Amino acid sequence: MLNYYVTSGKEMIQNARVKLLNSNHIQDGKYVLYWMQSAQRTDFNHALEYAIEEANRLEKPLLVYFGIDSNFPEATERSYQFMLQGLHEVSKKLTDRGIAYQFGIESPPTGVKRLSDNAVMIVVDRAYQKLQRSWRKEVSKTVKCPFVQVETNVVVPVETAYSKEAYSAGILRPKIHQHLDEFLTPVSERILEKSLTSPPEESIDLANIADVLDRIKVNEDVKPVKEIEGGSEAARMALLRFIQTKLDAYPEDSNDPGKDNLSGLSPYLHFGQISPLEVALAILESDSSGSEVFLEQLIVRRELSMNFVYYNDQYDSYRCLPEWAQKTLQNHLSDKRDYVYSLSEFEKAETHDSYWNAAQIEMLRTGSMHNYMRMYWGKKILEWCKTPKKAYEIALYLNNKYELDGRDPNGYAGIAWCFGKHDRAWSERPIFGKVRYMNSRGLERKFDMDKYVKRVNAR
Ligand SMILES: Cc1cc2nc3c(=O)[nH]c(=O)nc-3n(C[C@H](O)[C@H](O)[C@H](O)COP(=O)(O)OP(=O)(O)OC[C@H]3O[C@@H](n4cnc5c(N)ncnc54)[C@H](O)[C@@H]3O)c2cc1C
Repeated sequence: MLNYYVTSGKEMIQNARVKLLNSNHIQDGKYVLYWMQSAQRTDFNHALEYAIEEANRLEKPLLVYFGIDSNFPEATERSYQFMLQGLHEVSKKLTDRGIAYQFGIESPPTGVKRLSDNAVMIVVDRAYQKLQRSWRKEVSKTVKCPFVQVETNVVVPVETAYSKEAYSAGILRPKIHQHLDEFLTPVSERILEKSLTSPPEESIDLANIADVLDRIKVNEDVKPVKEIEGGSEAARMALLRFIQTKLDAYPEDSNDPGKDNLSGLSPYLHFGQISPLEVALAILESDSSGSEVFLEQLIVRRELSMNFVYYNDQYDSYRCLPEWAQKTLQNHLSDKRDYVYSLSEFEKAETHDSYWNAAQIEMLRTGSMHNYMRMYWGKKILEWCKTPKKAYEIALYLNNKYELDGRDPNGYAGIAWCFGKHDRAWSERPIFGKVRYMNSRGLERKFDMDKYVKRVNAR
């Protein structure tokens, strides 16, 4: 239900997904503006549907704007290409629905502020990280019309789930579960009643992605991955394939790096090309025996990361770790390290450990690393660096540079987990102190690791 309106600058908000970011009144103008930013899709997009509903109510057309920021921190040709493939699909789907769009190469707030001159109101989707939040803040302070944020990239809105940082998944799980019935509801598609004949300014053409990549002068060190294509349709295909062939075995096999029994949805979720709500509803509908275990990952674990990034300002630094973890790692700072590698050695997969190297190579070549290997990978960086702080920086740097799903709340939470976040203290040992330890013998005991190494080498 998205029937709560901004009528006179006063909040009439009963829907937990909707939040007014300023107190301005509806302006005279030519259109309602939807600033698409973190939800790069036309399906299951509460923000887009809310904007259409408001446009119809105000008897205005709708304009969808997306700003492609060529200076986005840590973005590479690999990530831009994936994003642009998805945006190209968005542009075609908007056209099919009679909705005008304008995509520009510029810092998004710059474009939004310029287009706000003719906007009666502006709607934006929600993001949790610092930069994207600062963009919204900047816009909220400068535009003259109402600016409304609609939260659509989580199943349960972050502040509804919990009003503070959750110490662990155990704390957040019951809070999320108590709201699931309320929020696990489909999003129905509205029809826009009035269309703009053309956008106010010429949109860049996304049909020729190579040309756009050229124009934004991306970091070409990290090449696109040929085997995976961005976009909502590709995401939906991956979801269907997963449900049909892997979901039943997910509880037993998802940890096994040799088996590759995962959904592969994280890059699509990262760019908002598929909604977690759509994924969750499809999983529930499948009635598979693997559903519960999968939904724990998709909803509780993923939304624990949003909770972390939203409530903990230090989420991108070592300082985000709980006090016990920082203290125990500090106590073991001078422990002897059998191996110490530089960033370059890690980056080129030049360690003594063939499993670690295989994981790094998997990430370099495919833009993805098996979930279980990510944990091992992070733990070993901690073990093989002079200091845990240095290890933290290296892990974040490599993860954000090469993973297609990098720069995501899940990445920050995943790396922090390797250093003790969202975990408990374990028995004391060298270098790690009380932080959980992992070793290669554990991998060999549980899994057919040769199969994993062969699979990586074959790609
Ligand atoms: C060191 C480290 C770094 C990580 N970096 C990232 C990252 O940059 N981006 C990223 O999206 N995830 C990251 N993760 C979390 C997790 O490894 C990936 O989400 C998962 O491997 C993605 O593959 P999938 O979509 O096939 O997962 P599936 O097992 O099919 O799970 C489906 C979805 O559930 C969510 N999920 C699964 N496992 C986790 C988890 N442990 N924590 C939170 N959500 C989870 C993801 O959204 C995932 O797409 C990291 C984990 C670690 C330990």
